[in-house]
Amino acid sequence: MATATKAYAAQTNTSPLAPWNFERREPKPHDVQFDILYCGVCHSDLHQIRDEWFPGIFPMVPGHEIVGRVTRVGDHVKKYKVGDLVGVGCMVDSCRTCENCKDGLEQYCENGSSQTYNGTEQDKVTPTYGGYSNIMVCHEDFVLRISEKLDLAAVAPLLCAGITTYSPLRHWKIGKGHKVAVLGLGGLGHMAVKFAAAFGAEVTMLSHSPSKQKDAERLGAHHFVLTSDKEQLKAVRNSFHFIIDTVSAPHDYNTYLGLLKTNGVQICVGVPPTPLQIHGFSLLGNRRSIAGSGIGGIPETQEMLDFCAEHNIVSDIELIDIKDINTAYERMLKGDVRYRFVIDMATL
Ligand code: NAP
Ligand code: ZN
Ligand code: ZN
Repeated sequence: MATATKAYAAQTNTSPLAPWNFERREPKPHDVQFDILYCGVCHSDLHQIRDEWFPGIFPMVPGHEIVGRVTRVGDHVKKYKVGDLVGVGCMVDSCRTCENCKDGLEQYCENGSSQTYNGTEQDKVTPTYGGYSNIMVCHEDFVLRISEKLDLAAVAPLLCAGITTYSPLRHWKIGKGHKVAVLGLGGLGHMAVKFAAAFGAEVTMLSHSPSKQKDAERLGAHHFVLTSDKEQLKAVRNSFHFIIDTVSAPHDYNTYLGLLKTNGVQICVGVPPTPLQIHGFSLLGNRRSIAGSGIGGIPETQEMLDFCAEHNIVSDIELIDIKDINTAYERMLKGDVRYRFVIDMATL
């Protein structure tokens, strides 16, 4: 029997989020069902309900920073039992047979991973619905184990903001001896600062919000540069081995490429609605590169969660009532998040 599920959904790309009911599937033999306790609010949720990237599937229930407690498991589930704390991030399935899936890079599945919402199951037909809801059902292979040691609400953003910044820092082996700049202090940015500092890098925050300087330092940044101040930007030209670019809005990539040292890499995790405009000279000068990175695979997501439990790393959050979600979006759009909204699902 399918399970009646309460949610908040956008009915069209111009409508606000409002209550909506749907059914989660009956758990299959390898499925885990859990009560969602908290769900983080990612800027990708906003991009998608407004069709800023591509036409979405509506009604859309956003949310891919999902944590909760297991209430049912299918007959063949081995990894989890009723009562366990678990999480689901940006994916709920993938083909499992392609080279990337076999390498634990399910986010780059050659046959298309199933996004947690605004996507389809592997049948390519059944729509997926995300975590702004009270119940989740997911194959155990895409469910993550969550430590009981950490503040659960503050763990939720690790499922996207956390892994999306942890993964490139690990891939490019960023740590001691590296000067790394984080561009944009929001949900992803504040996790990038925490991880880069934890890995031993010298961290500079590049922000267009003067009010965030104190917080940047508290989060672990060693330096703060106000990007709206041309003199401050000039002073850090040719300075960084890496830039982690988390900005959600269009911005001038050429300016930031100029802040890299020779062979430096600007790693884009932010996805503004419009394509990047990059001049060839910005790259060939000092042999710089620009790269991208998408979330992280399931094994690395578990590694990141375990790392956070061991080092006591969580997100800095503002816990909100689900009825305030549309106001939260307005604030996020203005860069006014300190530093991740998390929905308390008890308010649904
Ligand atoms: P967020 O919390 O809204 O943070 C974005 C930050 O960008 C803001 O806090 C602000 O920082 C800066 N910013 C915003 N508007 C700006 C503007 N007009 N000019 C300059 N800076 C501006 O967003 P988020 O949830 O961290 O997500 C950031 C981006 O990453 C989004 O595009 C999202 O879709 C994307 N994303 C990608 C992946 C992936 O797999 N690669 C995963 C998750 C999210 P300051 O105030 O400090 O300047
Ligand atoms: Zn996200
Ligand atoms: Zn695959």
